[in-house]
Amino acid sequence: VSSVELAQQFLDRVKREDEKYNSFITVSEEQALAEAKAADEMRAAGKATPWTGVPFAHKDIFCTNGVRTTCGSKMLENFVPPYDATVTANFRAAGAVCLGKTNMDEFAMGSSSESSYYGATTNPWGLGAGDKRVPGGSSGGSAAAVAARLVPAATGTDTGGSIRQPAALCGITGLKPTYGRVSRYGMIAFASSLDQGGPMARTAEDAALMMNVMAGHDPKDSTCIDRAVPDYTATLNEPLKGLKIGLPKEYFSDQLSPAMEEQVRNAIREYEKLGATVKEVSLPNAKLAIAAYYVIAPAEASANLSRFDGVRYGYRCEDPKDLMDMYTRTRAEGFGSEVKRRILVGTYALSHGYYDAYYLQAQKVRRLIQQDFLNAFKDVDVLMSPVTPSPAFAQGEKTTDPVAMYLEDVFTIAINLAGIPAMSVPAGFVDGLPVGLQIIGDHFSEARLLNAAHQFQ
Ligand code: GLN
Repeated sequence: VSSVELAQQFLDRVKREDEKYNSFITVSEEQALAEAKAADEMRAAGKATPWTGVPFAHKDIFCTNGVRTTCGSKMLENFVPPYDATVTANFRAAGAVCLGKTNMDEFAMGSSSESSYYGATTNPWGLGAGDKRVPGGSSGGSAAAVAARLVPAATGTDTGGSIRQPAALCGITGLKPTYGRVSRYGMIAFASSLDQGGPMARTAEDAALMMNVMAGHDPKDSTCIDRAVPDYTATLNEPLKGLKIGLPKEYFSDQLSPAMEEQVRNAIREYEKLGATVKEVSLPNAKLAIAAYYVIAPAEASANLSRFDGVRYGYRCEDPKDLMDMYTRTRAEGFGSEVKRRILVGTYALSHGYYDAYYLQAQKVRRLIQQDFLNAFKDVDVLMSPVTPSPAFAQGEKTTDPVAMYLEDVFTIAINLAGIPAMSVPAGFVDGLPVGLQIIGDHFSEARLLNAAHQFQ
């Protein structure tokens, strides 16, 4: 089939099926068909890449030239970017066909994709069996779309777990790369020192193919690292004999149910069969990660979100009386409650007199957490743990309890503070719902993580 025919089939399927999941905010049919036509021309000219003509979707946090980019917020309901994020441009250059933009928690703040202004996304797993389940978040639209086979792959972003947690809850594969491996240019900022874009796909092999397109130096992002990009597919089949696996004892605590622990331990036993060795390690400061994150991330968010003021782009309130009225009403009407909570917390933590007590302390804790990981990697090659404390929870279960929602990320958040890469790999089921195995590596060890995940799949 031609890329145009393929794109049309996928678009029809999205339009037919997505009523059940609400995994897309925008389906960009016209642009998708134009990209598919360009892909057919690329192929005819002998310039095809592995991505040419392949349908996929972007999380609605990546700016897409000419296609509305909302970040899950009313604030950006009518925002059509005049430029592409670097990640978007890279997929475009490879000839991939973007079908649209996937649903997400507003400004990527959340763990359930319920804080989206465009309605909650539903997990394809567990449908028809009691309560509807959340797909996780914030990249829940991407995870649900891949799990429902609406697209073979989708981009995500991970600030504290937003690729890995939804991947785990939807039974797909997700990778949060090393901070600085993938450009953040044109990726709407939440917490700039933690945000990182990455692949969400069915398998590690597909994730590796995505990384080949996503990773690389970008002069437009000063935190993006200038370092050669390997072919991530080249080492997928390396044998794992002799791989040293560490199990952080703090991640096998009473926060984890026995059924979850059993699935994770079964997965680790498979690695032993493949010739890996396993030992217990300790991350003594891991327990401080949630507290440090919920100072640092809101602090950075409060600064990043100050640009949404009704002046330059995005939502503006009706008939402002004066400038102050415009600022306050625009922000009061344009942001949802979780975003406002973060702005308040962050502004407080950065204010005079509290900066030393909260922000500076959190930065010191962050360094200790990073050091724990670096110490562990002197002894072992990778760490393995659960991704989440439990499988997908019911919609509405945690919406009125922000702290319960924050605890969804107990096993993922420290990784962002340390800047290291980690993956979520499907590792069985609990109560008929998928659960994930987390594989954590040292800086720039993405190829090794993908290799380990591929051998397990
Ligand atoms: N759940 C975390 C939060 O709400 C992480 C979100 C993310 O990684 N974007 O901040």
